Amino acid sequence: MKSLIEQIRDGVQGEVCDGRAAPFYARDFGRQVYALPQVVVKATCEADVRHCLQVANARRIPVTVRGGGHSSNGQSLCENGILIVNLAEQAQYKRLDDYRVEVSARTRWGQLEKELNDHGRAFPVHTDYLNLSVGGTLSVGGIGVRSLVHGMQIDQVEKLRLILPDGSARWCSPEENADLFRFSLAGLGQVGVIETAVLRTIPYRKQSRIYIYGHRNLAALAESIVWMQAMKRPLPDFFQAVRMRGQVTSVFGLDDDDKSHEKWHPEAYPEFQLGMRPVADFPFWSHAIQGQWLQEQPTHMRLWSDYFFDFEGFVGFLAYLDTLVRDRSLSPYIWAIYVLVIRTTETSGRFPLSPAALPAATPFFYSVGVYCTVSETDLEGKSMAQDICARTQEKAFAFHGRPYLHGFYQLNREALLALYGRAYETLLALKDQVDPCYLLNANTSFHKIR
Ligand SMILES: Cc1cc2nc3c(=O)[nH]c(=O)nc-3n(C[C@H](O)[C@H](O)[C@H](O)COP(=O)(O)OP(=O)(O)OC[C@H]3O[C@@H](n4cnc5c(N)ncnc54)[C@H](O)[C@@H]3O)c2cc1C
Repeated sequence: MKSLIEQIRDGVQGEVCDGRAAPFYARDFGRQVYALPQVVVKATCEADVRHCLQVANARRIPVTVRGGGHSSNGQSLCENGILIVNLAEQAQYKRLDDYRVEVSARTRWGQLEKELNDHGRAFPVHTDYLNLSVGGTLSVGGIGVRSLVHGMQIDQVEKLRLILPDGSARWCSPEENADLFRFSLAGLGQVGVIETAVLRTIPYRKQSRIYIYGHRNLAALAESIVWMQAMKRPLPDFFQAVRMRGQVTSVFGLDDDDKSHEKWHPEAYPEFQLGMRPVADFPFWSHAIQGQWLQEQPTHMRLWSDYFFDFEGFVGFLAYLDTLVRDRSLSPYIWAIYVLVIRTTETSGRFPLSPAALPAATPFFYSVGVYCTVSETDLEGKSMAQDICARTQEKAFAFHGRPYLHGFYQLNREALLALYGRAYETLLALKDQVDPCYLLNANTSFHKIR
């Protein structure tokens, strides 16, 4: 009988290697979890992915799909099975018409955006770092500065080509294979591997201006944006806020276009304004800044967690974080706190595992990321950072927050049922149909508590 690696090599075009020769793939961005796969496959096309899933299914061994590997808690790792690295060297896409693009999940967002911009189009919602894969962020949800206006990345998806755990492929949309569609987006790859997605695009605007504001603390930041909730004024084109190195700042962005009279006006808060600057291609500008920050800590462990709240929960959680960062024993490990505002769309409630599937009706969701980093050799720091995560998770849940599933969190069965209720049971029923041996993407909370 052929060995696993031989059997995989027989059916794929991409590079295949022994997991022991590729230790890089035993860790993810968080560097907390270590899981060595038997075989690593760099998939280049749908047939590669299908073959890997078929082999895993026939041999009853685990198989995980990894995009950029930017999760924080081992979600994209595979212990002793097949790791499919689904990340292309170049954008793989097809423009369907002026408004829609069909893109391979292997494409990095930065690659796609560059191609779209060359054709006068843009994707509505960018993450602040563009080396993430399309499949990876659609599997968690995808939020960015423009979520204030456009919602999440998953709200921009018209349909998907999904490869089921047995290796068969099908299209899914709200009308066709609707349950697979709903549980694939923001679903951590539990019911299949996203191969391609058909996405909505918007006109490209190269130039924008950003207005930067300073706030006393996080509670003051929350207070300064109460008006958004009331929907009394027009909105800017984009928004984010961050606490870093002791400073809390918010950024309001306006595109240079002919709609400025309809939008939020920067004179709204002259007392807090720190400055204004023009920026070309904000997504790439922001990506470059993220890249620099990440280079400052190449071997750190990163315990990143984000939670979504309604406004009341957001205010309560930020007030709690103000107390946490005042604690000098903890604050050195809290690298950043990151806030985005996400508009509720018609489709926000469609995806049951999405952090935006909050039960309360609210015009916006508020995401708060608490990003702890600690040197790999600092064992005391590691337990402090874990303690911060445990405390923030407890508080977030007390404020009815929902976890953003790429992050660092611990969910037991009780927590999953409390968070997802019947949707969780539906997921398990779907899994029983499409992946009865629970082989696909097994390194998640959904498997551990089965
Ligand atoms: C520096 C940095 C900046 C970030 N900024 C943002 C941000 O601005 N906004 C935001 O929303 N998020 C942000 N994130 C979080 C990010 O969206 C998630 O970590 C995302 O999952 C990363 O994509 P990836 O390609 O690295 O996915 P991976 O970590 O490789 O995979 C994530 C999960 O999806 C599964 N998966 C991957 N590809 C597929 C597929 N094709 N089909 C099915 N399942 C799949 C994996 O098995 C895993 O469970 C950031 C993360 C980092 C590290």
